[in-house]
Amino acid sequence: MLAMKNLFLLLLVITFQSCQSQNKEPKNMNSNSKKTEAQWKAELTPEQYEVLRNKGTERAFTGEYWDHFEKGKYVCAGCGNDLFTSDTKFDSHCGWPSFDKAIKGSVVYVQDLSYGMVRTEVLCAKCDGHLGHIFDDGPKETTGQRFCMNSVSMKFVPETK
Ligand code: FE
Repeated sequence: MLAMKNLFLLLLVITFQSCQSQNKEPKNMNSNSKKTEAQWKAELTPEQYEVLRNKGTERAFTGEYWDHFEKGKYVCAGCGNDLFTSDTKFDSHCGWPSFDKAIKGSVVYVQDLSYGMVRTEVLCAKCDGHLGHIFDDGPKETTGQRFCMNSVSMKFVPETK
C-alpha cells in the first residue's frame, strides 16, 4: 500500500514538472533548442554534429554545395529552418557555399574570437546550430556580404514547378 502511495506521489510530481516546463517555454521557441547533446548526436551524422554542434568547419572544396547552383532553397540540416534561397548564392571561389543574403530572421550572429581572429559566426535562429561565418567581402553590386557556410550544415530543397 505504501508503495502504491509513493508511486502516486511520484506521478503527481512528474505531472507537475512537465506542466511547469511547458509553461516556461516561450511561444515562439522551437523545440529543437531544447535538445540535449545526446539527442543531437543520435540524430545527426558525425560530420553534421561536428559542424552544427561543435562549430567545426568542413574542408574547402569538399562539401556538397560549394559548386552547386540549382534553383531552390537551403534549409538547416539540424532543424529544417529555411536559411537561404538559391538566387542569393554566388560563386566566391572559396570552396564553401556562399550567399550574399540570408532569409529574414533565419539566422543570428555571434562574435567569434577563436583561433586568434575576430569573426562573426552565423547560427541557425531556430536550433542555434553553427552554420559558418559572415564576411564583408561579398559582391559589391548587391549587399557586399559573404555568408560563408558549411555544406554539411544545410540541406538543399529543389524548387518545385
Ligand atoms: Fe536549425
